Amino acid sequence: MEIKIIKALPKYLKPKPDETKLGFGRHFTDHMFSMKYKNGTGWHEPVIEPYHLLQLDPTAMCLHYGQEIFEGLKAYRGKKDEIYLFRPLENIRRMNTSAERLCMPPIDETVFFDALKKFVLLEKDWIPRESGSSLYIRPTMIATEAALGVHPSGEYLFFIIAGPVGAYYAHGFSPTKIYVSNEYVRAAPGGTGQIKAAGNYAASLYASRIATNMGYTQVLWLDAREKKYVEEVGTSNIFFLIGDELITPPLGGTILPGVTRDSVIKLAAHFGVKVSERPLAIDEVIAAIEKGTLQESFASGTAAVISPVGQIFYNNKEYLINSGKTGALAQKLFNEIMHIQYGSKHDPFNWRVQIS
Ligand SMILES: *Cc1c(COP(=O)(O)O)cnc(C)c1O
Repeated sequence: MEIKIIKALPKYLKPKPDETKLGFGRHFTDHMFSMKYKNGTGWHEPVIEPYHLLQLDPTAMCLHYGQEIFEGLKAYRGKKDEIYLFRPLENIRRMNTSAERLCMPPIDETVFFDALKKFVLLEKDWIPRESGSSLYIRPTMIATEAALGVHPSGEYLFFIIAGPVGAYYAHGFSPTKIYVSNEYVRAAPGGTGQIKAAGNYAASLYASRIATNMGYTQVLWLDAREKKYVEEVGTSNIFFLIGDELITPPLGGTILPGVTRDSVIKLAAHFGVKVSERPLAIDEVIAAIEKGTLQESFASGTAAVISPVGQIFYNNKEYLINSGKTGALAQKLFNEIMHIQYGSKHDPFNWRVQIS
């Protein structure tokens, strides 16, 4: 499929934001990629054109029944202006897994990668240079058929937008305070916790607001069935180093298979750390804190890479982890992943994909 490219006229190009004040999700580039799907026709009309508002019928099915999925990945600029993506095929495949679960059409991996690459290269000047900054890329698919009635839509729109984002921890790590929710859950067995479905995030807001109101940064989600096992933190995967064992909950339908999670597991094992993907009860975490064997805890995700956890609130009690400081393993993993992403170190796993 040939992608049509319609460039924005120079006079309509947006001024680039100050790279030292980017934040997250506030600025978007000049163009967007999009492609349509219709039952019987398949995917068609791939185009990169100026960023614009979408026109949707008020009955567009995504607005009523939540058929909407997305991905999140980044493009990084190296020291010699090389441009890298980090394990992009993982995001492409995960998007197709999400699509299948919500009865949405898959996208050919080659077509998807080609669109991603051409779009990012057209927006190359938007990839910031400031240390730790990057271009955040958001592929999204929505159901667009104009009809009410719960059934899979017969029409879809797939689009890719992107915007420059700053280093998550611009002034060094600041360990987060997490709130264990034992009332609300994020994902239930048989549900959609393992995919990036928009509705999952809507459903998580209420518990997040409770946590924020109590002075915490994120919610630590427990399993829906027994409210006993730790699952994820906010929209990131979670790791605990107890003694010399690095533990993260196993994928099993309720955990989002994070690309960063997988990278942490492989890198930590490469460093010689014992890594276990196993159920971890919140009681085991609390007992380890009380015994002094919980060395550190951190979350993993594309936005922050590694996010150290400094405090946990559970059953009306507050517990300090590693004296509220960033752990040595969290720091080492963070440094190593960043070096790989920005092309400043050998990449033993071939995760980096240079596109320019
Ligand atoms: C996206 C996401 C993650 C992290 O995935 P990465 O591929 O590492 O960015 C973890 N949990 C949830 C719920 C997510 O949406």
